[in-house]
Amino acid sequence: MSDIIKDRAVVLKTHPYGESSVIAVALTRSHGKVRFLAKGARNSKSALQGSLMTGIVAEVVFYLRPERGLQLLKEIETLGTYEAGHDDLERLCLFQAALEIVDRSVIESESDERSFDAIESFIRLLPSAADPWALFYALEIGMLKLSGSFPATASCERCRRALENEAFSMDASSGLVSCPACGSAGARTLTRGASALVARMNRLGFEGALDVKLSRGERKEIGELMHHFFVNHVEGYRLPHALRLCKEEVSGQ
Ligand SMILES: [Zn+2]
Repeated sequence: MSDIIKDRAVVLKTHPYGESSVIAVALTRSHGKVRFLAKGARNSKSALQGSLMTGIVAEVVFYLRPERGLQLLKEIETLGTYEAGHDDLERLCLFQAALEIVDRSVIESESDERSFDAIESFIRLLPSAADPWALFYALEIGMLKLSGSFPATASCERCRRALENEAFSMDASSGLVSCPACGSAGARTLTRGASALVARMNRLGFEGALDVKLSRGERKEIGELMHHFFVNHVEGYRLPHALRLCKEEVSGQ
């Protein structure tokens, strides 16, 4: 028996299947990550044709059979997506990287509406962010927080002193946050600027990232910190392919 389900979904990736079908991996709001089989979706007569694009936010209707690895997609209605301007290769790269990050962080069959809301907000806010890298890092921090892998950065965990406008250290494997006096072997010490940005995005989420501009150094510093957290906390993590492209794009400038 299968139930007919209606849900919202962000399509994380798609690939062709068989003669004319498509398999899409999507993050749904209420049913977690789902692998959809869209039968005949590459057939020009199909109602599903052309609708299964990576990165779209959509309303989906599907038959749910939890014991199956693939769920049959019945209907899909696109609600929106990120549309890059011609000159905004960087935002487009980060959009793709964000989809990859979410795909890697969310475990199949685990459902958390907050993961869906995070990527949906990211897609909505991307065009208006002052610096798309700040928004991207806020998404990464948000995803790590949802899996319980990113610590609070308000105080030193050794001496309990509140951290205010100062450089702190973070240990990606233990999650330990420490003030300059306490320090910690193996931790990465951030500059004051990067510390303040991480603390702000950690506290406020996207809200704390929208109007922020990162310097080249801060971008690199926070990027490396995020990479270490993901490597330590997300099984089988590799740097998203799209992110490698963004970096090449950035360093080629
Ligand atoms: Zn301390």
